[in-house]
Amino acid sequence: MDFRLTAEQVMFRDQVARWARDRLAEGALARAHEPGFPFDVARSAAEAGLTGIAMAEADGGQGGALMDAILAIEAVAAVCPRSADVIQATNFGPIRTLAEYATPEQKARFLAPLLRGETAIGLGMSEPGAGSAVTELATTATEDGDGWRLNGAKVFTSNSPEASVFLIYCRFGPGTGNIGSVLLERGQEGFSLGKPARYMNGEEWCPLFFDNARIPPENLLLGPGGFKRQIAGFNAERIGNAARALALGRHAFEIARQHAQDRHQFGRPLCEFQGIQWSFAEMHARLEAAQLLLYRAAVEADDGLPDAQATAVAKLMCNRAGFEVADAAMQVLGGLGYGTDSLVEYIFRKTRGWMIAGGSTEMMKNRIAEGVFGRRFSQRPPRTEAPQ
Ligand SMILES: Cc1cc2nc3c(=O)[nH]c(=O)nc-3n(C[C@H](O)[C@H](O)[C@H](O)COP(=O)(O)OP(=O)(O)OC[C@H]3O[C@@H](n4cnc5c(N)ncnc54)[C@H](O)[C@@H]3O)c2cc1C
Repeated sequence: MDFRLTAEQVMFRDQVARWARDRLAEGALARAHEPGFPFDVARSAAEAGLTGIAMAEADGGQGGALMDAILAIEAVAAVCPRSADVIQATNFGPIRTLAEYATPEQKARFLAPLLRGETAIGLGMSEPGAGSAVTELATTATEDGDGWRLNGAKVFTSNSPEASVFLIYCRFGPGTGNIGSVLLERGQEGFSLGKPARYMNGEEWCPLFFDNARIPPENLLLGPGGFKRQIAGFNAERIGNAARALALGRHAFEIARQHAQDRHQFGRPLCEFQGIQWSFAEMHARLEAAQLLLYRAAVEADDGLPDAQATAVAKLMCNRAGFEVADAAMQVLGGLGYGTDSLVEYIFRKTRGWMIAGGSTEMMKNRIAEGVFGRRFSQRPPRTEAPQ
């Protein structure tokens, strides 16, 4: 077992770090406070070859590995935390499910402009009545002789104010076996977006409403029976979520580390107080442990999509490490860390969200427990016998 990166990986990471320093260092704080998707960063990332890193060259990707895409997130987040979302959106999010399962025609229409950083895609999975219990989703796709009609509503879709296409989870009939997904374009008849709401991290999302929205046959992504494959694609999104949580935690750690050496109280730098040293020792150990779990999940996935169990372990530990380190880093910075002039404040708010998004930490623990005991535990109430 070799825990070191290869020479090519080190070279790639350094190359991304150089691009990030040149292109993203200036304006990193301002970007963190802008609610919209930074398309200028996305276009620049596309020019630098940082979109579709782990996607096939035939699809317009870079033909790299999932691990390379993680290294890119880390190098970008070290300079500009908000821009790490661009690496996520153009490598790990619904774009990845699209790259995996779309037809060549769909790839030409939707994937190509996404990889050029010109458009954004939203994922419509969560509904008002179906959050963690995603298989309870109630959005229906009903055949109408020339495709489908979509009815229902979605909430919490990231990048929905800007997305030009949405990957919508829907059901073609009752039961989990009838869940699939369609591609819905902005402006499509019967599709409307509600008033934007704002998350604690500053990003905005709009509710999506489908009122007999037309889905032409060429916009079907995965028909009935597609749920398992969708979730397999979604595991890649979880890896990107985990990588950002960890990389942002590390960013906060570095700010705090510098501060602990520069700031003097009681006539000595903060780093000379043992209480502060132990806090850094804890932070460092947490980041390192989560990093290994993340890399393991990615390396084992290199021949395909990441394993659900390894992904759940990595996401749980990276989400926690990112947020807990951001919290501890804020403490080291004192009043400065709590203000909006500090990226640590942004990172604290941002990492908190990832313990909920993409499958909450509780849902990751449910998944891990199933792996531990080698059996499925239904979360639904036990069926009671009908009274005689
Ligand atoms: C920043 C952010 C971005 C998001 N982006 C998207 C997006 O792009 N697309 C999208 O579709 N959704 C998105 N979401 C929504 C996200 O997927 C849901 O918030 C998440 O799945 C939880 O669903 P819920 O909010 O309905 O909470 P609920 O499912 O109602 O859960 C509430 C609480 O109960 C816990 N809980 C529920 N069931 C169990 C159980 N069986 N065992 C133990 N605990 C349980 C949960 O962990 C949670 O703590 C985003 C959310 C956030 C915060």
